[in-house]
Amino acid sequence: MSDASQGLRLYNTLTRTKEDFVPIDPRNVRMYVCGPTVYDFAHIGNARPVIVFDVLFRLLRHLHGETHVTYVRNITDVDDKINARALRDFGGEIASGALSLNEAIRRVTEKTADQFHRDVATLGCLEPTVEPRATEFVEPRADGKADMITLIQSLIGRGHAYVAAGEVLFDTASMPDYGQLSRRNLDEQQAGARIAVDAHKKNPGDFVLWKLSSPEEPGWQSPWGRGRPGWHIECSAMSAAYLGEVFDIHGGGLDLIFPHHENEIAQSRCAHGTSVMANVWMHNGFLQVEGQKMSKSLGNFYSIHELLETDTFGGRKWPGDVLRLAMLMTHYREPIDFSVRKLEEAENTLRKWKRAADLAPAAGSQLPVEVVEALSDDLATYAAFQQLTQLAGEATDFDGSGDNAAAVALKTALTFLGFDIGAIKVDDTVVAKAIAERLTLIAAKNWTEADRVRDELLAQGVQLKDGKDPVTGERVTTWEIKR
Ligand code: AMP
Ligand code: ZN
Repeated sequence: MSDASQGLRLYNTLTRTKEDFVPIDPRNVRMYVCGPTVYDFAHIGNARPVIVFDVLFRLLRHLHGETHVTYVRNITDVDDKINARALRDFGGEIASGALSLNEAIRRVTEKTADQFHRDVATLGCLEPTVEPRATEFVEPRADGKADMITLIQSLIGRGHAYVAAGEVLFDTASMPDYGQLSRRNLDEQQAGARIAVDAHKKNPGDFVLWKLSSPEEPGWQSPWGRGRPGWHIECSAMSAAYLGEVFDIHGGGLDLIFPHHENEIAQSRCAHGTSVMANVWMHNGFLQVEGQKMSKSLGNFYSIHELLETDTFGGRKWPGDVLRLAMLMTHYREPIDFSVRKLEEAENTLRKWKRAADLAPAAGSQLPVEVVEALSDDLATYAAFQQLTQLAGEATDFDGSGDNAAAVALKTALTFLGFDIGAIKVDDTVVAKAIAERLTLIAAKNWTEADRVRDELLAQGVQLKDGKDPVTGERVTTWEIKR
């Protein structure tokens, strides 16, 4: 292990191995993660990279110092899906001239970005250091930071891009080692490509850097006419703007390896003449719901917002930290099956941890070494959680005098990991339903079942109190949170 790595090892998709993580500059560790395209609520799959890389951000801050990590997560606010959404939601106003298309697009992207921020904050995620918006990096900037048009010009100037049929395309054949990340070679890509559709391309794998916009579409003036950027170029510009030509870590979901990340690498390396864009490429596995790929047509498509605020998943709302724990119980590189059972398991675990952590008056300053070691092994969150469960056991069994060190350590670790160690949260409607059910059982003299309902609530931290209404004399049940 090298000292500079601080013991951190990360799996690198580029080399397909777990490596010591040695930052280029330990006083400024630099990470870029592809962020959301803001046209609709973020779904629960989108939450996975946000949560996973939040844990890595926290760990890097712990290892290198809070002010020594720069985490950039962009917002994609230019995309044809956004235009379509603006036309769908504001078509009438646009047609009547009450709203310009650009104004409608701005409304869609701002509303969606605000919702995304609320969602991920509820999931316990810290804000990234910078959150650039793609539209602010299309044209050359007053502050001289990297922008897409200048990058495309460099690519053309260096012989890596060409203009054809109103598009600027990246010339994949100009980069001998194109395809390193996804380990696809150009021949394979050509075999499967639809040549006829892409007749203007030199090679079927060539991809769009710039395309022309019709007067109805959003566009920017450029040397190639009024148009808009392709998807990949925005991340090359925004990462260069804040992290430089070569930086430490680049992340996102598995589906981004090809073509998005492969093409980011091609653009950045060829524009800057560097041998890598980022040293470590990290990808989270995919999330399924109840054993099936999440899709609107299957009716198992859930937004983060729905899980937090409605009862569409499992008939109840789920607290943000339960979703967070459920997401992290599986190693980030594995596929994850999101299910009601998993959420219930996370909720039970979290409740036990919180009760034990509550035996300490406050978190301490010392993060348990075992937790740091577990996370430093390519974010082995499940191993870190085993440590928390052990600490919870020790904290609960503690009968000595003085400080309950295990409880303090547990509280420190929970805070560090982004779990809300405040009050146990319960869903009022769920409690009310259970109370009504119990009263029915009591009326039917089904004492065993009535007690079962009472005990289940108690296990969730809800204690029932039976009393009588002073006026009607009827049985009334109140409840309070008991830890
Ligand atoms: P998108 O808005 O589709 O570009 O996705 C934003 C981020 O969410 C990317 O990092 C994707 O790789 C990731 N992502 C999308 N769907 C899933 C899923 N079902 N499971 C895990 N990650 C996903
Ligand atoms: Zn990207």
